[in-house]
Amino acid sequence: MRVLVVEDEHKIARALKKALEQEHYAVDVSYDGDDGYAMATTEPYDIMIIDRMLPGDHDGIDIVKALREKQIKTPVLLLTALGRVEDKTFGLDSGADDYLVKPFSVEELLARVRALLRRPNEVKPTVLDADDLELDTANRKVKRGKTEIRLTSKEFGLLEYLLRNKNRPLSKDSIMQHVWDYDADILPNTIEVYIKYLRAKIDKPFGKGLIKTVRGFGYKIEDSKKK
Ligand code: CA
Repeated sequence: MRVLVVEDEHKIARALKKALEQEHYAVDVSYDGDDGYAMATTEPYDIMIIDRMLPGDHDGIDIVKALREKQIKTPVLLLTALGRVEDKTFGLDSGADDYLVKPFSVEELLARVRALLRRPNEVKPTVLDADDLELDTANRKVKRGKTEIRLTSKEFGLLEYLLRNKNRPLSKDSIMQHVWDYDADILPNTIEVYIKYLRAKIDKPFGKGLIKTVRGFGYKIEDSKKK
């Protein structure tokens, strides 16, 4: 899951990036309203955390309004130093999904992020599966049949993205954009390399390969139970 953080206070932005990365999100950070506006409206994020007061021509509310006008429905958690009731209403009226008042604990922020990613209208269950493979997004566990499988953070992110879109061919570009952040060192064969790592762990030992190569395009994970 790829997250955009738009926050001009570098200390807070760095702390958020670190905490989110520990939770295996791919994180991009923007430190001002204009750059944040450009990233939010052009890059495919799964969730955005946007500070309300930002330097530049666009503040947090502007960014959220622009997203909703463009029919971009990505969940947004708005941050603010203001705690007054009218500010909260204003933030939610602009199209933000939730609102967090500074100072907040990192745990609280992570809980809100998880809750937003589980919104029922987005249908994001905590256990994703394909055949006998299961990935639990809440407990960060993967198993095939009864065998537990240990994955690295990136392998887990890649498998989660494939499973959230199971039976659907995903282009290498789309995989790259949702699993890796903007500054990641991506080589032309990075996706292939990680698919290979993943196959060695979830497919090879079990005889039946679930990850299919879609020639000249990308990959998909196949669930033969529900087509
Ligand atoms: Ca600010």
